[in-house]
Amino acid sequence: MKIHVCEKCKTPIRLSIIKGNTHIVCPNCHQKYQFDMASTKKYMLIPFFSVGVAVATSLHFLEGKTIDVKFIYIIGVSFVLAALLEYICVKAGILKYEKSKEK
Ligand SMILES: [Zn+2]
Repeated sequence: MKIHVCEKCKTPIRLSIIKGNTHIVCPNCHQKYQFDMASTKKYMLIPFFSVGVAVATSLHFLEGKTIDVKFIYIIGVSFVLAALLEYICVKAGILKYEKSKEK
């Protein structure tokens, strides 16, 4: 498991599964970090993957259910899955950060 440490002041930066981790800020020196280019490309695949899994499982588990139930299920599952995947990818070091230029 990878813990993010600020490049400037070496303060550990906590990741949030609820707020998302597209942008993180050092709690000590307020240096901002964002995903680098390669990570941004990978990150953009997460929603597609999440929706794909949600649709596939809804077809499997919700056979015969109304379209409303399926719709709610797909929205819910893809949302939760996307947040989880992002968190896991960051923790595993698949998604990496670089210093943000914005002040
Ligand atoms: Zn810092």
